[in-house]
Amino acid sequence: MKPQGIAILGSTGSIGVSTLEVIARNLDQYQVVALSGNSRIAVLAEQALRFRPFLIALGLGKTAEFMSFLPPDYRPRIEEGEAGLIAVAQCEEATQVVVALVGACGIRPVLAAIAAKKRVALANKESIVMAGSLVMAGVRNNKVVLLPIDSEHNAIFQALQGSERKDVAHITLTASGGPFRQLAKEEFASITKERALKHPNWSMGAKITIDSATMMNKALEIIEAHWLFDLKAEQIKVVVHPESILHSLVAYKDGSLIAQMGTPDMRTPIAYCLAFPQRIASGVAPLDMAQLGALHFQPPDLERFPSIAYAYQAIALGGGAPAALNGANEVLVELFLQDQIPFMRILSCLGELMERLKQEKSTTGSQFPWTLDTLDQALAADQWGRKFAQEQAPC
Ligand code: NAD
Ligand code: MG
Repeated sequence: MKPQGIAILGSTGSIGVSTLEVIARNLDQYQVVALSGNSRIAVLAEQALRFRPFLIALGLGKTAEFMSFLPPDYRPRIEEGEAGLIAVAQCEEATQVVVALVGACGIRPVLAAIAAKKRVALANKESIVMAGSLVMAGVRNNKVVLLPIDSEHNAIFQALQGSERKDVAHITLTASGGPFRQLAKEEFASITKERALKHPNWSMGAKITIDSATMMNKALEIIEAHWLFDLKAEQIKVVVHPESILHSLVAYKDGSLIAQMGTPDMRTPIAYCLAFPQRIASGVAPLDMAQLGALHFQPPDLERFPSIAYAYQAIALGGGAPAALNGANEVLVELFLQDQIPFMRILSCLGELMERLKQEKSTTGSQFPWTLDTLDQALAADQWGRKFAQEQAPC
């Protein structure tokens, strides 16, 4: 059988590299047809030389540098900027698009892939947080399959197979608790960038690693689950599970809990998405439960990590509130990574943002987008959150 064409948006990042590792083990079934990278041009060129895709998307102004790495006998089509991302998302030779971009820049490519009726494997949680109603409407209207790469959502997706949605009581997302799970609140003021960038279980890009340290990652994942699985906020629970072995679970009406477990390695959920409904080798060995011995679970501490409460508040506010929360968080993470604000300011500023959003909602004639029927409304809410963070954070 002809190999399936795979396009990867964000191939130079942590998820992108893991996706290529899984594909490299299964070249009889998959062919890389398009790749995108932003600034790591040498890495992208190495990937291109190995997999020889037809199409490459680059950051603006990077074509000359990229071409200098290619031999004369390999001349792929090259595109730059957002137009390049859209071209990869809609690449004719691709049947499946892996979206491994980080941040809100993923929204247009995700919608473009869906509009082109591609099967979408989504790692980019920010896009669905920002515009979940639009993404899910696109999925329904175009009858495409959307598969979650995010390990918790992938676990839920797996645990839902073979059962009826009406029989789901609730889901529980597991959270590692990040590097500061046990740190006293008084010590949060001394958290450095270096410490925040060291995740105990997962090796990931910088943005999601900081999100894990603030537990904003779990907040984004609550909103992601709300849209992906059409669940009410009260049907989504969070439990802290420091080992990151049990990746999440579905609780059914009859008292059954169906979970998915495995080594914390993103190649497993990536392989599941690529092959669904079949399974392929991912390079991850099954766990030895006897060697593991014990697993631990505890409730999240909302006092130290109010981020989880912000997610529920954003869902309750509705409209552009999740987009504003996400946009503000992206700005705050960047400011922290540039040493412009302390770690604690990320969460305190997001708390102020939630209060401002609540005030806005009760203000007659509020200009904030409280309905999300168009991408422009989602982008406006995202911008509102970004502006709030830029103005309020440095105090
Ligand atoms: P990363 O920072 O390692 O990689 C991001 C990729 O996006 C890179 O290829 C980069 O070139 C590209 N990119 C970034 N900004 C861009 C822009 N403005 N225009 C074009 N390309 C751009 O990130 P990651 O850790 O691989 O995470 C990717 C996504 O997957 C995130 O949404 C993250 O939340 C989600 N996710 C990651 C993991 C993980 O283990 N890394 C797990 C679950 C979910
Ligand atoms: Mg996750």
